[in-house]
Formats: sequence, C-alpha cells, structure tokens
Amino acid sequence: MAELENRFTWSLSRDGSFRYCPRQYWWNYYGSWGGWKAEAPGEVRTAYVLKSLSNRWAWVGSLVHSAIEGLLRQAQAAGADGLLAFERPAIGVDRELDALSERMRREWSESRDGEYWRNPKRHVGLIEHEYREAVPPEEWQAMHQRARAALRAFLESDAYQRIRRSSPTRWLPIEQLDSFDFEGTPVWVVLDFALERPDGGIDIYDWKTGEVKPESDRTQLAIYAQYLHSARQIEPTHVSTHLVYLGQTAREFDFRVGEAELKEARGVMRASIAAMRTRLRDPERNGAAREDFPLTDDLERCRVCAFRRLCGRDGA
Ligand code: SF4
Repeated sequence: MAELENRFTWSLSRDGSFRYCPRQYWWNYYGSWGGWKAEAPGEVRTAYVLKSLSNRWAWVGSLVHSAIEGLLRQAQAAGADGLLAFERPAIGVDRELDALSERMRREWSESRDGEYWRNPKRHVGLIEHEYREAVPPEEWQAMHQRARAALRAFLESDAYQRIRRSSPTRWLPIEQLDSFDFEGTPVWVVLDFALERPDGGIDIYDWKTGEVKPESDRTQLAIYAQYLHSARQIEPTHVSTHLVYLGQTAREFDFRVGEAELKEARGVMRASIAAMRTRLRDPERNGAAREDFPLTDDLERCRVCAFRRLCGRDGA
C-alpha cells in the first residue's frame, strides 16, 4: 500500500487548534503523524492516542451529533418520502433517548478502562480519565442529562419537524467529509445536514450543543456556502443556513449568506492558511519542526489539554 502523505490542508478545527496553542497544533497535525503504525516511535504513538481524546463537553456534543446522524440516516435508508420515512423505522423520542443513554454508559466505561490505548479509532477516550481528574459522579450525571436534553430538544424542534416533512431523496450526504480547493489549499468540511428545497435552493443545518454564539458561528456556515459554490456550483444566494442550538430547548438562528459574509469567510481562511504556512520549514513538502511551534504561555489552556503530559505540563 502506498505511504500516506501528510499534505497541508485546512479546516476550521485545524484553525481552532492553531489559535489555541501552536504546540498543540503541531502535536495534532505533525507530531502524531504515523502513530497508527505498529513501528511508530513511542512519543508519536502517544501523541496519536492523546489526539483522539476529548473532554466531557465535546463528548456530549459528538454523542448528540452522532445520534442525530444515526436517526436521519435510518430515515434516509428507509427510502420513502417525508413522514413515512420516519414512521417506518419507528423513530421515537424514548427509543432514541434510551439508545443515547446506553451508548454513553458503554463509552464511559470503555474510556475509564483505557480501551482507547488499544484502538483509539474504535474506543472513545476522555481526557478526564486519562489524567485521573477528580470528576464527581454528579457531574457525570449532569453530562448525561445534558446529552439527553439536547437530543430531546432536537426531536421536538421546528427544524426536525421541517426535515420530517421533506423528502429524503432531496437530502445531501449526511455528515460526509468532503473538501474543496481554496486558492490552492484543500479545505475540509463536514455538513451536519443539508437538503435541497423544491425551488432548487439549499438549506444547511448545523447543530450546536455548546454556547449560543450565532455571530461567530456564522463564519462556519459561510465556509459551507463557499464549499457548495466551489464543489457543487450552487450560488450562495440560493443557500439558507440554520444554526440550531440544542440545550434544554432548541433555539434556531436563520440567515442567508451574502457577499459580505463570504468575503469575511474567505478572509479568515486566507489569513489562517498564511499564518500556518509561515511556520513551516519547508512549505512545499509541508515540513514542520517542533521548535517552530512554541508552547502557549497560558497555563489555563494546558490544564485542559490532552497533550499536557508530552509538554511536561501535567502539573500545570
Ligand atoms: S499542554 Fe499546553 S503547551 Fe502543550 S500543547 Fe497543550 S496547550 Fe499547548
């Protein structure tokens, strides 16, 4: 099999890591590269495993996303139009919530037992378990309730009702990793959900389980609109976006992506790509040296970072 090449690409999560701490970015995209191989050096393997860990809040978010993805895929696979697709596989609130609870219990136990060290792709790992953080049982219970509330909020949301009334034949591929070219750099995107309206326009939906901050989250949807334009030749003026925040209830923020938002999104991508590439020793080959990616001075960041052992900041 041909050797995988560590190519320079861009994504919003990559940008987030770069902004958080240059060294974290290096561990995520360079220092852990190849850690899946049996012959990987110990530190590379460790970085690869630590990179896969998430904290309890991110875990809740990915569980809720995954539950929504699962039920929408199930409806899509049923192959019928509109409401029928949801009724045939009997998607119901209690059933979905129970499945979520079951999965949370299983993943929590696997994480506590360190299963991710055997296979980080297959088993969820939590930073709290890896670093033996003292999280009281009530806090884990609160996380459980938070996940259930978010999924319930989705199932009771107007957005879900609208999706239920649409034909699955008009849905775009769900949670599918795809990329587009932006000024020579591949940009990765994963749309939570999108459908084609009868008038030919596209509705993009993005589920959020964290802080309600539509102003800053709009950039992400503008990048998605740019993706639809570049990869599918869909005019941004035909795209509507819906940010759906899932807490105790669902709060939806709808907006269209105009030229100003697109310009801003392109500016964010351009500046971020340039800043990342500036740190490379060999931009042509995406060659990076650890010492060019300094550790953050903000020890608060280290306290919740998965790589703190590798940085010698375990006791930060
Ligand atoms: S432990 Fe601190 S310095 Fe090291 S990668 Fe994480 S945030 Fe950066």
